[in-house]
Amino acid sequence: MQQALSRPAEAAPFAPPSDWPELSPAYDPWDPIRSLQRYGRHELTSVELTVTHLCNMRCEHCAVGDSLTMTEAPFLPLDMLFRRLDEVRHLETISMTGGEPTFRMETVRNVLLPVLKYARERGVRTQLNSNVTLDFERYELIAPYLDVMHISFNYTEAADFHRVGFARTGRSVREETTAKLYERMIDNARRLSQGGLFVSAESMINFRTHDRIADIHRLIVEMGCRRHEVHPMYPSSFASSLPAITRRQMRDAVSTLLDIRDPDVWMLFGTLPFFACSEDAEERRLVSRLREEANVTVRNDPDGRNRVNVNLFSGDVYVTDFASVPPFGNIRNEKLDDVFAKWQRHPMQQAINCHCPAAGCCGPNLLVQDMYYRDVDFTQRRAIPER
Ligand code: SF4
Repeated sequence: MQQALSRPAEAAPFAPPSDWPELSPAYDPWDPIRSLQRYGRHELTSVELTVTHLCNMRCEHCAVGDSLTMTEAPFLPLDMLFRRLDEVRHLETISMTGGEPTFRMETVRNVLLPVLKYARERGVRTQLNSNVTLDFERYELIAPYLDVMHISFNYTEAADFHRVGFARTGRSVREETTAKLYERMIDNARRLSQGGLFVSAESMINFRTHDRIADIHRLIVEMGCRRHEVHPMYPSSFASSLPAITRRQMRDAVSTLLDIRDPDVWMLFGTLPFFACSEDAEERRLVSRLREEANVTVRNDPDGRNRVNVNLFSGDVYVTDFASVPPFGNIRNEKLDDVFAKWQRHPMQQAINCHCPAAGCCGPNLLVQDMYYRDVDFTQRRAIPER
């Protein structure tokens, strides 16, 4: 369906068209449970684009840290991308990620803006994953066409930001320099929020944050973010050498957040290792609480369920972050729906392809299963009814 490129009102220049449904706990088009309920099977509704391998930061937990580079290869022609996106029958969302997607103005002008305008014309919702530490002008350019600005926020002060965000630079970066970036990130997030953009801040629960998550939440609320997204950290790429925390510590951090959260801010949890089929009653209690609390959702993991990732340089299509699954196709010679269908038949996807409608759950992702449930066959499990 063609949508008008309607300009938002002056008071909220970054708000989406007023006749579009509001993103909310009741409407999260990134959650694969929606397409599963609608079509009766997993369908490709979400495409993530890797638009850069450059970044001004080197976070210790970066899930793509090993693929960051100092120079960039040329992009594939956007015509090819748009043709492949046109073919995705049920496309509902496009996300763009990196690296830092706004690192080069060339990427902002020649990739981000055309893709965002394509999405607006097609009525597709968009997300940009950014650290928002660069000059406001580049965010201001894209914000009027964007639905969600997704930032990472795992800090309680500038010193945390320095420690976490520049850990892997391989050279010493002055604390005064990173403190300025920290201030700019907070200022940019605030200005974008004030302009009507939906800013979603993601924190990870890990060895550094699990006992400081309440303070982190408070700062996120102060920045005006509409949503606080929370995931456990899983040991991939740069994060593989970081200490893990126990499931108990993770459960406590989630419970603390539920206790102290601002009830007006949407809390979105993802890739939690807790399920309604758990043999542990405490974990099941937490799952129930997460379902019952207002303005709280647990998003099923999109990877390989309703989403694929396309590398805009090589054309490679990835179906999961899980290390042992290499690119599963390439947009130069395959349709995205076909690559996705091939993955649905793959034994690795079949092994975690469970669904308990009453629990609103469609199973763990591969990283969660590998870390916590290596011997568990989820296809044989069922949500345990609450008493
Ligand atoms: S869908 Fe799978 S993981 Fe979720 S509760 Fe059911 S069996 Fe457990």
